[in-house]
Amino acid sequence: MFSEFALHERLLKAVAELKFVEPTPVQAAAIPLALQGRDLRVTAQTGSGKTAAFVLPILNRLIGPAKIRVSIKTLILLPTRELAQQTLKEVERFSQFTFIKSGLITGGEDFKVQAAMLRKVPDILIGTPGRMIEQLNAGNLDLKEVEVLVLDEADRMLDMGFAEDVQRLVDECTNRQQTMLFSATTGGSGLREMVAKVLNNPEHLQLNAVSQLNETTRQQIITADHNQHKEQIVNWLLANETYQKAIVFTNTRAMADRIYGRLVAQEYKAFVLHGDKDQKDRKLAIDRLKQGGVKILVATDVAARGLDVDGLDLVINFDMPRSGDEYVHRIGRTGRAGNDGLAISLICHGDWNLMSSIERYLKQSFERRTIKEVKGTYGGPKKVKASGKAVGVKKKKTDAKGDKKKVAAKTPTKRKSANRPKAEAPSLVSKDGMAPLKRRKPQEPAAE
Ligand code: AMP
Repeated sequence: MFSEFALHERLLKAVAELKFVEPTPVQAAAIPLALQGRDLRVTAQTGSGKTAAFVLPILNRLIGPAKIRVSIKTLILLPTRELAQQTLKEVERFSQFTFIKSGLITGGEDFKVQAAMLRKVPDILIGTPGRMIEQLNAGNLDLKEVEVLVLDEADRMLDMGFAEDVQRLVDECTNRQQTMLFSATTGGSGLREMVAKVLNNPEHLQLNAVSQLNETTRQQIITADHNQHKEQIVNWLLANETYQKAIVFTNTRAMADRIYGRLVAQEYKAFVLHGDKDQKDRKLAIDRLKQGGVKILVATDVAARGLDVDGLDLVINFDMPRSGDEYVHRIGRTGRAGNDGLAISLICHGDWNLMSSIERYLKQSFERRTIKEVKGTYGGPKKVKASGKAVGVKKKKTDAKGDKKKVAAKTPTKRKSANRPKAEAPSLVSKDGMAPLKRRKPQEPAAE
């Protein structure tokens, strides 16, 4: 029960108003420690209720009588606009019975309007790193009195290339007393470095081991011969699966547009979201999806980041995400708040090893599914290694002397290249064969 936390009654009233009854595991673990002022490093997936886990303790700290605001007391950084907007909404919902004011700074919004908002000094400032830096450089932003700093989806901010910006903003918060860092995954060396630099003797709460992600979401793969075949499978799934709302992920904008075009031609209520779309389109897509006017969203990763839409219960990976972390982020769109979800990845010959790396990374085995109406000829590799990868990768040849010779990189034969559709994602696999390579630089510009 939320009433067991030492939260101000006005916050408990808001919690009750929102009909939150039981705290989620991340809330149960993080709220008491955050209320004590501890630095936290929390690994929890999107949809776990992590926003309330840091927002409620922050509000509890700030709550008090109405007074003139002279400095920003809390800074919350997130990787994308949508996520920042959603966090602002969550903060406003929880602070509805208080005098606490929040502001939002993201790309794609009017710079001067933001500067005017900053002059009024919000208690809590929420936003994305790129635009924050611009406001800082313009002399509009003073973070010296920030007491609490939150880095939400920190792993993702690093993946999107915001490490330097985030560090600069952290350095601006010279008087901070508490820092909380949230990530959906345990992250790599970049995240470890950030944790070491930014957090002070943190408590590490690991709410979801990677392998336990999305217990409520079934994860399936369907093999496909090529992209046109994948399109047929998508059509079949959208026509025959039971779902409220679906999202189809592609790795490129061009493919997202292509699939969207095909769906619209079939009179599906669909929307496309990718880095080429402006803020207005993005808002419209998300609003329509939330209101139910649109049932299907076709999106690239960056564009779909931070979506929190009720009833999203079908995720189709037209292209396999390029890393295990990205997979986790995509699948985090479904199966939220205990609802069942279904995630289906379409796997061509060229996707197989990436898929099996992701299985190993997640310590899960995806369910193999065949749909007889759209069954192709490719059904996975004939032989797989213990790692799950396809046998048949070229080996180094040994010459007569027994020395290992490098096999010169040959141009692939016509037959082989004909088998592999151009637009397929390359197999990015780490040297140790355990985890897929992490993408350092996004393929499309950050969604700001
Ligand atoms: P988040 O992981 O913070 O994005 O939260 C995911 C969704 O779960 C949001 O729509 C929240 O409003 C909702 N939520 C968070 N905590 C609870 C709770 N204790 N009970 C019911 N819903 C919740």
